[in-house]
Amino acid sequence: MFQIGDFEVHLLSGGQIMVDAGGAFGLVPRVLWSRYYTPTEDHLLPMCLNCLLVKANGKNILIDTGMGSKLPPKYIEQSQLTYPYGTLFDGLARLGLSVEDIDLVIDTHLHADHCENNTRFDDEGHVVATFPNAEYVVQRREYEDAIKPNERTRATYVPLNYTPLYESGQLRLLEGDTEFLEGIKGVVTPGHTPGHMSVLISNQEQHLFFICDLATYAIQLERLGWMTAYDVEPLVTLETKRRWQPWLIEHQAIVVFPHDTQTLAARLIENQDGKPQLAPLGADEGAVYS
Ligand SMILES: [Zn+2]
Repeated sequence: MFQIGDFEVHLLSGGQIMVDAGGAFGLVPRVLWSRYYTPTEDHLLPMCLNCLLVKANGKNILIDTGMGSKLPPKYIEQSQLTYPYGTLFDGLARLGLSVEDIDLVIDTHLHADHCENNTRFDDEGHVVATFPNAEYVVQRREYEDAIKPNERTRATYVPLNYTPLYESGQLRLLEGDTEFLEGIKGVVTPGHTPGHMSVLISNQEQHLFFICDLATYAIQLERLGWMTAYDVEPLVTLETKRRWQPWLIEHQAIVVFPHDTQTLAARLIENQDGKPQLAPLGADEGAVYS
C-alpha cells in the first residue's frame, strides 16, 4: 500500500495472462529486451493485470477492473489466465470491501484487459454493472473509438464491457483532463490509444502516477523508443513519454505499472550520464499487492 497524504493507494491484482513477446515489445529486437525479461520457450511473457483501489475521503475509487467475469473458456485457456494473488474481488474482500462499496470506477481505456470486470452476467444471463453503486468514467474519445473499432482494434474492444453502462447512464464520458476530487486527477496520455488516460494522485509534494499503458512494461518508461506492438499511435506514445519523463524525475513520483510482473512500481531518476533510469520500489516501500 502506498500512502499519499490521506489517500491509501492499494495495488490489486486483476489476474495474469501470457502474451506473445512480439506483441509486448513490437519493433524492439529480442536481443535487447531479453536482457530484462526472459520469455518462455513458446516466446511468451507474463503480463499481470493491475488495478488500484484508492481510499480517499471516505470514497472507494477503483482504477481499472482486470479480467475474468464474462470470458469464454477458450480465451481463458489460450491466454492462460490465472489468479496468482486471487481475483480482484478477493483483493477487495481483503480490504473489507464488496462490489457495493465502490463509488467510482475509472477506466484508463477500454481494452478488454483493463475493463472486462466492469460488467458481469446476472443469473438470467443479462449483462449488469459489476459495481452497482459506482459511477464509471472514461474519456469520450476512448469510448468513441471503442464503439467503432476497426480491423486492428476489434479483438480488444468488447462492447459488453462498456456499452450497457453507457446506455443505462452509469458511464460518464470525460472531455480531457479531469479532477475527480482534490488530489486525484485523470490525465490524457495518448499513444497506446488516442483517448488513453493515466491517473495522478497527489498530496502537496507527494505524487503517485498510475501510468497505465503509456509504459506497459517498466523498461518502456526508461526507453522512449520502446513500446508494445499494440500502441495505436506509437510516435504519439513516444512524445507523450518525452513530455512526462522530466516531470516524473523532478517530482520523484511513484510510478505504478499496469502489466509488469517484475517491477510493480518505480521512481524515475536521472543517472550519472544524465539519462532517465528506473529505480524500482520494493515491497517494503509499498510495491506489493494488498
Ligand atoms: Zn494494457
